[in-house]
Amino acid sequence: MPARPIYLDNHATTKTDPRVLAAMLPYFTELYGNSASVSHRFGWDAGDAVDRAREQVAKLLGAETREIVFTSGATEANNLAIKGSVEVLKKRGNHLISATNEHKAVLDPMKRLAREGWNVTLVDCEDTGLVSVESIEAAITDSTILISVMAANNEVGTINPTREIGELCHAKGIIFHTDATQAIGKIPLDVQADHIDLASLTGHKFYGPKGIGALFIRRKDPQVRISPLFDGGGHERGMRSGTLAVPLIVGLGEACRLAIEERDEEARRILDLRERLHEGLAQRIEAISLNGHSLLRVPGNLNLSFGYVDGEALMMAMREIAVSSGSACSAANPEPSHVLLAMGVDEDMARASLRFGLGRFTTEEEIDFAIKHVAEAVERLRPMSASWMARSGN
Ligand SMILES: *Cc1c(COP(=O)(O)O)cnc(C)c1O
Repeated sequence: MPARPIYLDNHATTKTDPRVLAAMLPYFTELYGNSASVSHRFGWDAGDAVDRAREQVAKLLGAETREIVFTSGATEANNLAIKGSVEVLKKRGNHLISATNEHKAVLDPMKRLAREGWNVTLVDCEDTGLVSVESIEAAITDSTILISVMAANNEVGTINPTREIGELCHAKGIIFHTDATQAIGKIPLDVQADHIDLASLTGHKFYGPKGIGALFIRRKDPQVRISPLFDGGGHERGMRSGTLAVPLIVGLGEACRLAIEERDEEARRILDLRERLHEGLAQRIEAISLNGHSLLRVPGNLNLSFGYVDGEALMMAMREIAVSSGSACSAANPEPSHVLLAMGVDEDMARASLRFGLGRFTTEEEIDFAIKHVAEAVERLRPMSASWMARSGN
């Protein structure tokens, strides 16, 4: 029996890899200098560590070190990318494009800009969660200055055609931002090949620490200019003032190094486990449907809706496995998932959904336990559903 509860919520956050933690620890205790102190060894050691981490982040993205700005996470990176770039571009136009199934950390900055008078278009996704190049192209006007489309969706794992959208943006002279948080360390992403101008990431979604992230800001072809969100000591070339969180930055760098070395092999292993989970559940449970794209999906994501069960009851029954759901009781807001609704999933099916997020530390034993646990819960709950009884003719 695996230890319980079993963690299958790796889109929400991941365990810090022990190798990441080990790399960080000396920077709390002996090597605690301020990387901006240039007159002594403590500062130099911290500065060297930040330089090395910046190289690792840059390498993972195919970027240059001077194109990386450290932030507190992807929320800040998205805000800096969106609000910071439009501020500089406002003479060229006032139209921004994003999509209805983005993360709140993109949608809410967009909504704020809309309230402030910017013209914001949110394009609809397809029923797989995919944001098509055609839908983006159709929304472009002469005054479009920024397009923001996530690389992979955090709820259903759908992988967007980032490269094609990037090519389109570059052909039209529009800045392209991608929230790459759920893609980093899972699928290949290259800011050059993918024509990305701004890319956001956060450490804790790929086995790094919480509270640290980065924004890639393209320096040439085109050079993207950003107006900072906060003013202060002029750190990060003026784009993000504030003393650098050296231990966290070291951890982020180590997480990137591990991602570079292990990503492809890990993706294969996690994909096998995901298939095992999907097949195991499909064999034991009738009337389940996959939310998202069957192929264009990050390896660790499985999002299923369970017909003929109450969403809240289903979530309440998940005592032994930590998963996320599209139902009201687990989320801070009582609405069903805006992502599933945007994909055209009906409200009951959105509520009766579970998001399984597999990761680096997920084992086969845990998957087998999860199959049994979910199947038994659904078998227990269905006889309580009037629609199920009507359907099965009892
Ligand atoms: C988690 C997540 C974020 C926010 O990351 P923070 O570390 O909380 O700032 C943004 N976008 C996506 C797609 C995410 O999954």
